[in-house]
Amino acid sequence: MGLLDFLLDLFTGGTRQQCPACGTADARRNRAGQIRCKNPVCQYFDPRIAPRGAGTVIPTRGSFHPAHPLTIRYKNFAGQDREFIFELNLVFRQKNHFVGTVAPTGRRISLSRDRIQNLSEVESQLPASVVSQSGPTPRENQILAYHKKHGTTSPLFEKIRAKYPD
Ligand SMILES: [Zn+2]
Repeated sequence: MGLLDFLLDLFTGGTRQQCPACGTADARRNRAGQIRCKNPVCQYFDPRIAPRGAGTVIPTRGSFHPAHPLTIRYKNFAGQDREFIFELNLVFRQKNHFVGTVAPTGRRISLSRDRIQNLSEVESQLPASVVSQSGPTPRENQILAYHKKHGTTSPLFEKIRAKYPD
């Protein structure tokens, strides 16, 4: 890697080339060999190089860049494929959802496991404690809420609290 390549990366955001995943022209490859693509449904999608307002509802502004990126491919209610980059260390499970902080906005979003397209890949990267933590059931939530509201306690309440320390 020469100085010229380095400077080119710096000014162009990477070497231009066709995306190897989806074929979109004008994808970029940086010095580390990572592909960045402006196609919102591509696995290499990077909103930073996408044209503004390019027909996507994915928020493209923000400065949150996960140190440990976890890519989640997701089919939304409308049947559209979306890709989200989460910070791996901030993902937790809430019932049947994974909740996490997403690039680039740093917003917290919640994704149903049922619609995660690469679920096994995602779960293999998450700590087992996160994957198996299924959160309080509706009944348990009711009990928790009741005692919190009334400032009371019960053996069952204590048991549920011990199960879900948050
Ligand atoms: Zn692509």
